[in-house]
Amino acid sequence: MDFDFTPPQQAFRAEVRSWLTANVPAALKGRGFAASRGDRDAVVRLRAWQRQLYGAGYVGIDWPVEYGGRGASIMEQVILYEEMSRAEAPQPINRGGLSMLGPTLMRHGTPAQRERHLAKILTADEIWCQGFSEPNAGSDLANLQTRAVLEGDWYVLNGQKVWTSMAHVSEWGFFLVRAAPGAVKHKGITFILVDLKTPGISVRPLRQITGEAEFNEVFLENVRVPAANVVGKVNEGWSVAITTLAYERDVLTMIRHISLRTALERLLGLARRTKVNGHTAAHEPVLRQKLAALVIAERCLALSGYRSLTRILNGQPPGPEGSTSKLFWSQVDQDLAEIATEIIGPYSQIAPGSEWAPDEGQWEFYALLARGSGIRAGTSEILRNILGERVLGLPKD
Ligand SMILES: Cc1cc2nc3c(=O)[nH]c(=O)nc-3n(C[C@H](O)[C@H](O)[C@H](O)COP(=O)(O)OP(=O)(O)OC[C@H]3O[C@@H](n4cnc5c(N)ncnc54)[C@H](O)[C@@H]3O)c2cc1C
Repeated sequence: MDFDFTPPQQAFRAEVRSWLTANVPAALKGRGFAASRGDRDAVVRLRAWQRQLYGAGYVGIDWPVEYGGRGASIMEQVILYEEMSRAEAPQPINRGGLSMLGPTLMRHGTPAQRERHLAKILTADEIWCQGFSEPNAGSDLANLQTRAVLEGDWYVLNGQKVWTSMAHVSEWGFFLVRAAPGAVKHKGITFILVDLKTPGISVRPLRQITGEAEFNEVFLENVRVPAANVVGKVNEGWSVAITTLAYERDVLTMIRHISLRTALERLLGLARRTKVNGHTAAHEPVLRQKLAALVIAERCLALSGYRSLTRILNGQPPGPEGSTSKLFWSQVDQDLAEIATEIIGPYSQIAPGSEWAPDEGQWEFYALLARGSGIRAGTSEILRNILGERVLGLPKD
């Protein structure tokens, strides 16, 4: 196995590094690992940042040229994210569009859908949210009940979605709905693109443990959506959703892991300058062990991420193995937050905005945000079920 980057990849890294050194806005630098996607003003700044990245050719670099990308491989994409982490720059805001819907449309969408949506995903002119979960359909997603009734060339949608991240700042959403009410669970699901400005949609932000409202309830009441917005075949949306979820677990986990590396670097810096029991935290015998364990875990995540990427580079779709990385990432993320809290001590509970908050209060936000890591994109229990049944071949019950 060859772990080295090729000379062109190294040249690309050098190019990105110098561009980032010159261009990361001071107001966004260092906000990479605990950046808010709930605050509307922050989203405005992050949209502008994605546009700037796009202008420089750094958004959608692994997308084919015909879809507005750079036609590079996913390795360049990873190098870019690694360098953004090194530069403490935030990642592009339109994560759902870039890493979930875009690849899904390339695989299952019509030419008209690609033509209409892909370019605006790249520029962040249209931010996308994912409307899958419902009050009684989270882990058991196929239990979703939002109804779609065909009336001529339109589907009329009624129902409720929940935990829809960024719906309050998004222009569009990719939704799962049920167009065949009597069908067996997975069979009657349809994947449809919904313009969030359509009459009948109400978005209500939900305040989270972090204090911000990053996700929302979305109510749909007689929402008329063109039938041409269905992705793939009607009632066969489950296989389309599986593509989206596989990208979420695989590529997005790699991206999340790179954010985790940003946090780890920041934590190591903090450990070197914070005194605990008469030593710096980096020299305190017990904390030192815990920090070393985190560094090792991060390295394992990187290597396992490269293994998944190799699969994709070889033209294979993301497989169930992506669940290993997501599961492990969420554990490491929570350990990292806990060790940061231990190093900082009681002051770790002080929120951003107070002059007493160490490291601008970012750790208070991070520690609370990390509680959701074992829930979003598949809970840890569900991922263990997937790994047991689909990777290890254990019996279902
Ligand atoms: C920060 C955050 C952002 C999110 N963003 C989005 C979004 O943008 N779009 C979207 O559609 N959804 C989003 N979600 C929702 C997320 O996908 C769901 O929360 C998740 O799938 C779990 O569903 P649930 O909350 O209904 O919990 P439930 O499915 O009700 O699970 C409750 C508990 O029971 C356990 N459990 C359930 N079934 C089993 C089983 N068969 N075996 C063992 N244990 C089981 C679960 O692991 C969990 O601990 C987000 C969630 C979070 C936390």
